Amino acid sequence: MSVDDALLCEDSGVYKTLLESTRAIPWKIEWATLRFAYIGPQIEALLGWSAQSWLTVQDWADRIHPEDRERVFNFCVAQSQAGMDHEADYRALRKDGEFVWIRDVVHVVRHADGTPEALIGFMFDISERKRTEERLLDMQRELEELSYKDGLTGVANRRRFDVAMETEWRNAQRLRRPVSLIVLDIDYFKQYNDHYGHLEGDECLKRVAKALEGVLRGPRDLLCRFGGEEFVLLLPDTDEGAAMALAWRCLDLVDKALIPHAGHGPGKRLTLSAGVNAAVPKEHDEVNPFIAVADRRLYLAKERGRARVVTDDGVL
Ligand code: GH3
Ligand code: MG
Ligand code: MG
Repeated sequence: MSVDDALLCEDSGVYKTLLESTRAIPWKIEWATLRFAYIGPQIEALLGWSAQSWLTVQDWADRIHPEDRERVFNFCVAQSQAGMDHEADYRALRKDGEFVWIRDVVHVVRHADGTPEALIGFMFDISERKRTEERLLDMQRELEELSYKDGLTGVANRRRFDVAMETEWRNAQRLRRPVSLIVLDIDYFKQYNDHYGHLEGDECLKRVAKALEGVLRGPRDLLCRFGGEEFVLLLPDTDEGAAMALAWRCLDLVDKALIPHAGHGPGKRLTLSAGVNAAVPKEHDEVNPFIAVADRRLYLAKERGRARVVTDDGVL
């Protein structure tokens, strides 16, 4: 035995202690037999399966979460056959039925001809990292949702409208289907604020939004606060007749909410005006002129005495 070998031999106890006291779990699989030559005893504390129970590659595959099993198994086999070092994240099943997120980092030991001789690797418990990742993803989703929501009323905001309007416009063009837009504005809202104060004005906006939500028929109808005391209702696959009926229903719902508006006169109730536009957009039609027409009709509704719906551009 050379001096080096003797040192190695003496050190091997040290290596073993080191390997078995790290949080990463070392293992080795012989390629020819597909059996475990070794797995660190720490595996039992992590997954509940004793080191002795890890006999073959099949034991490893069986202890992968069913949703990850095929993907991870196929990937690891392909990489190993190609002689490529690799790593895979997966949920390892615990004996008690729970699972732990593992990152398996694998080195392929190769014969001189390049074919695999053995796989050696470390399993790392990455559950904490995965939990942090999931929390971050949740927060990201929440932020995204918030960025599309009006802070006061909780309905969609202008940003959301812009995106949805563009999408629905393109859909309507492609499918040659109608799309409708109702623009709604509270009548005499300045007086409402003057009479009741701005905070009450805010409460009123919330009540109006709540009432208008009653008109939504399904997930594609979109109610947005366009800004100030103006709301819009985007109605995909809806023609002019249906849109006009829905616009009147909006006014009716707010009327039924019985919001007093003493600033506009004793015994008066809050009302809305609406402008409606509907179209089956042609290939090169732009969306902005379509919105502008609905806006102009809202203005006409105001001119014609408020608390009404206008669907045409005719003069009085
Ligand atoms: P019209 O019938 O012609 O629509 O008259 P109006 O008074 O409703 O319209 P105008 O545009 O003159 O006034 C809108 C008012 O809405 C003015 C503004 O202070 C108020 N407003 C806009 N945003 C908010 C808000 O977030 N909260 C409150 N309380 N008031 C708001
Ligand atoms: Mg107004
Ligand atoms: Mg307005």
